[in-house]
Amino acid sequence: MKYSIVVAVYNEEKSLPIFYSTVKPMMDELQEEYELVFVNDGSTDESEGILNDFASKDARVKVCHFSRNFGQQAALLCGMQHASGEAVIAMDADLQDPPEVALKMIEKWKEGYDIVHGKRRKRRGETVFKRATASIFYRVTRKLTRLDMPADVGDFKLYDRKVVEAILSMKEHDRLLRAQAGWVGFKQTSIEFDRPERVAGTTHYTLKKMLRLAGDGIFPNTNYPLTLSLKLGVLAAMLTAVCAVVFIVLSCFGVNYGGLTAWLFPFIGGCLSVYLINSYFTNVYVYMTYRETQDRPKYVIKEKKNLE
Ligand code: UDP
Ligand code: MG
Repeated sequence: MKYSIVVAVYNEEKSLPIFYSTVKPMMDELQEEYELVFVNDGSTDESEGILNDFASKDARVKVCHFSRNFGQQAALLCGMQHASGEAVIAMDADLQDPPEVALKMIEKWKEGYDIVHGKRRKRRGETVFKRATASIFYRVTRKLTRLDMPADVGDFKLYDRKVVEAILSMKEHDRLLRAQAGWVGFKQTSIEFDRPERVAGTTHYTLKKMLRLAGDGIFPNTNYPLTLSLKLGVLAAMLTAVCAVVFIVLSCFGVNYGGLTAWLFPFIGGCLSVYLINSYFTNVYVYMTYRETQDRPKYVIKEKKNLE
């Protein structure tokens, strides 16, 4: 198998027919072997029937149906595990990842690149809030993790087979593929594109889901949050020392600074905040460690089509 297109699908009944009728002829034209691997992430609309219909008419369409919604990252992981192509391209079902950019990615792969990122230059049809949070996410993740993860790059990527194998060898449960792609290394390049609006439907990413995704990118890839307690602790100790000196000097000169009790309230409040914030980070890592030791499957497949 030469190319595998991997698509995570969650309630995309309106997008799927357009996706299939756009991508299939485009891939046929290449006149090389390919497969379309769809992972239905527990859709509750007609997506399941539509995918089964594609699979019954087209042996190139392979489908995994999840038993429930496990999230886009789990669906992409499943797609990569079932893909047999020498080059694997992950795409969204809503055509926000323009298929013609996938062809350019293939050209770059033929030039010898192992990972080709789709880099979003403009994002149409997305709220200012979504664009701003996405932009902050990329920059904060890069800064905190020091991963070689280009900014404004999502899951739309081409991976060479050896990259797929390297990513599949990473066994952690909480994962963000784009961060893992930054971790594995290899020869990488980007193709810029203007991100169009969805062909149909609306985004599935609420602010809560985006924050969780950001956490899955940051926490497994850095110990920075755990080092914060030392930094904040030293800062609090220094502030206390400065205040103590100021109080002593002021009282020596008989200046009324309101008495120690007036300062105690903000001081205790500040210390408590630092303590609680730090214990949150510690709890996150404790929970992540617990999840790893549980070692549950990352998803459950209900049914497969055109896959043994
Ligand atoms: N998706 C998924 N599971 C989810 C949410 C989304 O498989 O829980 C799929 C969705 O069908 C689409 C891709 O992931 O193919 C990206 O989702 P979406 O377009 O909602 O995200 P956005 O482009 O707005 O970031
Ligand atoms: Mg989308």
